[in-house]
Amino acid sequence: MDVFNFDKKGYYGQYGGAFIPEVLKTTIDELTAWFEKAKADPSFWVAYVDLLHEYCGRPTPVTHLQNLSHKIGGAQIYVKREDLNHTGAHKANNVMGQGLLVKRMGKTRVIAETGAGQHGVATATMAARFGFDCTIYMGDVDVHRQRPNVFWMEQLGATVVPVKTGQQTLKDAISDALRDWAHSMDTTHYVMGTVCGPHPFPEMVSYFQSIIGLEALPTIKRMAGKLPDRVYACVGGGSNAMGVFQGFLDYDSVELIGVEAGGSGMGIGQHAARLAKGTTASAGVAQGYKTAFLQDDEGQMLETKSVAAGLDYIGVSPILAHLAEIGRVRFEAATDTEVVEALKMVMQYEGIIPALESAHAFVQGLKEAADMKKDEVILINQSGRGDKDIFTVAEAIGDPAWDQFLREKAGVKDA
Ligand SMILES: *Cc1c(COP(=O)(O)O)cnc(C)c1O
Repeated sequence: MDVFNFDKKGYYGQYGGAFIPEVLKTTIDELTAWFEKAKADPSFWVAYVDLLHEYCGRPTPVTHLQNLSHKIGGAQIYVKREDLNHTGAHKANNVMGQGLLVKRMGKTRVIAETGAGQHGVATATMAARFGFDCTIYMGDVDVHRQRPNVFWMEQLGATVVPVKTGQQTLKDAISDALRDWAHSMDTTHYVMGTVCGPHPFPEMVSYFQSIIGLEALPTIKRMAGKLPDRVYACVGGGSNAMGVFQGFLDYDSVELIGVEAGGSGMGIGQHAARLAKGTTASAGVAQGYKTAFLQDDEGQMLETKSVAAGLDYIGVSPILAHLAEIGRVRFEAATDTEVVEALKMVMQYEGIIPALESAHAFVQGLKEAADMKKDEVILINQSGRGDKDIFTVAEAIGDPAWDQFLREKAGVKDA
């Protein structure tokens, strides 16, 4: 199934497109042309795979969760380990690929927006490695919330610009980054972090992330002796999901399941589920593309909520919106409470600490594995590692020793 081969380039059914200001048209067209040329040149993909091998530690392994499979007593549970990728998540695949493209284009500067800071750190890492100048736009509220990531971006050589307009969060950072790009496009590339935004970004980021599925397919076949019956991935923008799903799209026997942030419930403003059952999201155009957005009747964007910052977004990949509409990908939502429970199980039975985002995929996978047969196989894409979530998880678990540690650090004396 070639989802990129529609009549109208950059559209996936009714979704996608490139709704951009006139000044960016030449740059976007130029980027599309460079991407098409790179894709048609086999040496580009070879250089990409070599770079990820040498610098990021790819290929990442697949792990059979024998203890949990036994404990749950249903399907055999396998995990694709993107947490073992350099910088601790799948994000490095995309930024390193775009870095190679920037080099081909002869540009010398990269910019990006970041919410939680993970994409900012990945982009700053890539820029350091390639020797590019790097500016990261981040809402002022997020700059304060994500101090450790700001620190690392700066140490890696990036300039972090706090955005003080609007609500001072991700969507305001996007506006400022676009404004920068409109003035600097001769030298500068905008590094999109996920499979969203105007064409060619959804296709380009999917192309780089497809390495996850390309690796996973032969590995799970060898280990399990068959194709997986179901493949699970968490969905923020949708890049790790598109990455792993692309390995299995052609196999009708493999069911693909995207898991969104169910937050504290399906009420308005309580979650970030755009495609799962019960969502009120509807088709609209914003931020350069058409997809299912969490918006009200007037097209005002709604509040979103999730324990996992990486899933907390109003839009979703136009490719996934289409795959949901034609029934190829099933969407579910996992609540914050379920996520913390799944995280505890994976830590305690397997010695693996998934990112809070990835734990959403585990929730659905573990739930469904219980009702499946022992000779059935599921594959969960673990998009990243959980080290970054230590404060959030400790608070959610309510560990008293941790509270004590924080009080001591802050110099607060016990009453
Ligand atoms: C950013 C992030 C996500 C969400 O992004 P997608 O584009 O939906 O993959 C998921 N997991 C981790 C660990 C992340 O850092």
